[in-house]
Amino acid sequence: MTDSHAEIVICGAGIAGIATAYFLAVKAKVQNVVLLERDTPLAMTSDKSTECYRNWWGGIDNAMVGLMNRSIDWLEVIAKETDNQIHLNRRGYLYATSDPNQIPKMRQAAEIAEKNGAGKRRIHDSSESNYTPASAHGFADGLDGTDLILEPEIIRTHFPELNDNVIAVLHARRCGWFSAQQLGMYLLEQAKAHGVRYIRGEVTGVDVLENAVQGVQVTRDAQTFTLATSKFVNAAGPLQNQIANMLGLELPIINERHAKLYFNDHLGVIPRNAPMLINLDEAYLPWADDEREVLESDESTRWLLGSFGSGAHCRPEGGDSSKNVLMLCNYHTQATEPTFPIVHDPEAPEIALRAMSLLVPGLKRYFEHTPKPVMDGGYYTKTPENRPLIGELAVKGAYIIGAMGGFGLMAACGAGELLSAHITKASLPDYARAFLPSRYEDPEYQRLLETWGDVGQL
Ligand SMILES: Cc1cc2nc3c(=O)[nH]c(=O)nc-3n(C[C@H](O)[C@H](O)[C@H](O)COP(=O)(O)OP(=O)(O)OC[C@H]3O[C@@H](n4cnc5c(N)ncnc54)[C@H](O)[C@@H]3O)c2cc1C
Repeated sequence: MTDSHAEIVICGAGIAGIATAYFLAVKAKVQNVVLLERDTPLAMTSDKSTECYRNWWGGIDNAMVGLMNRSIDWLEVIAKETDNQIHLNRRGYLYATSDPNQIPKMRQAAEIAEKNGAGKRRIHDSSESNYTPASAHGFADGLDGTDLILEPEIIRTHFPELNDNVIAVLHARRCGWFSAQQLGMYLLEQAKAHGVRYIRGEVTGVDVLENAVQGVQVTRDAQTFTLATSKFVNAAGPLQNQIANMLGLELPIINERHAKLYFNDHLGVIPRNAPMLINLDEAYLPWADDEREVLESDESTRWLLGSFGSGAHCRPEGGDSSKNVLMLCNYHTQATEPTFPIVHDPEAPEIALRAMSLLVPGLKRYFEHTPKPVMDGGYYTKTPENRPLIGELAVKGAYIIGAMGGFGLMAACGAGELLSAHITKASLPDYARAFLPSRYEDPEYQRLLETWGDVGQL
């Protein structure tokens, strides 16, 4: 294999690497971009997601909302130019609670999100109030901001599937889902059509001289060759620290294992036009008394009686004739070394189903005979404050796009555009600074991290 030269080499054809290639080649017109992938495009994490998006982010400033609004703008542009081949909808995220203590927090969250640019908040606390439901398809007539519904009658009318104990729901509106695979393949095809060379091969080394990138070593079929380049992008998803180590760097990231349950809701418990349903309350799984006794008696099963945290969520999946539902209950939030294939807990489907049944009691009908579930999942690769890394690293010419936790699909277009702007030295948006890898060198930022609070993970 002959050695060759590339203007920019991107390691990893997940959504982050593909979006970067797209914005460099298609939008910034950069020639001679190489996209390297050791396996199949999108197949490590990017095809394992719930495919949802939201501009609903809290935080200390408007950076996350800014990035997401920009990214969603791109999703809408792509949806329009492809006749909505990416199946973008705008059904919203519906956060629900039965706990009166949550209501002030919901009010405050809606206020902060409005201040950060997520759109206006509307409070519905009387049955006269004019709440507009989301349409099931498309995104053109969508509202933004939030509807905080405190009037039980409105909740029961529009969301009859929810538990009668729900006293408040917050409907975040510039949110929904889309086909991540279609998006990824569209961006990849466009990138290739604009000259990006896609090469199957594994990055096994990066040549650095005087703290500057000189080339990338690629191994394929037991042969190694070098691509000479002065610009290298680390988009290796959960394996980003392996690549950083090749540059002599260590990234402030961890990986968490997250599983997703996919099952046939043949009883039609989740309405096909439902938004994303999210339980804000802490989940203690419902068990019958005799089950509880058995679980209690054995040390290896006692954990099933403990807390599974808040945030269990589900949504309908597929077209009008589909009965499929996606469900997540994220309880593996400790850092772990990424290994493949990922082995999921055998209990994960039952945990997700029982946790979700607290918000949607109709799901209890599946406790006796759960339809055979399909499990998949991947890693959330995260920084301490759950904000991405986008920009140049401490080695000249080495860049990163990643650590996108549970939001990499929704952020991909905004993040790819941003990294392309860094590399081509184009003008940067206000939110660029918040995602620079160098932010951790600032002692002030380190102090801020200690009091960060909610990291907005779902
Ligand atoms: C269960 C679950 C649900 C999620 N739900 C959502 C959601 O609803 N919305 C959302 O926006 N996000 C969601 N996410 C997050 C999203 O999937 C990720 O943030 C995103 O896919 C990360 O993309 P990536 O390109 O950084 O990484 P990856 O998709 O993992 O891509 C990295 C690529 O780099 C390649 N690579 C690694 N090392 C090398 C090497 N040495 N040489 C060559 N190639 C290499 C890998 O093979 C891989 O293809 C979810 C994630 C999970 C696990």
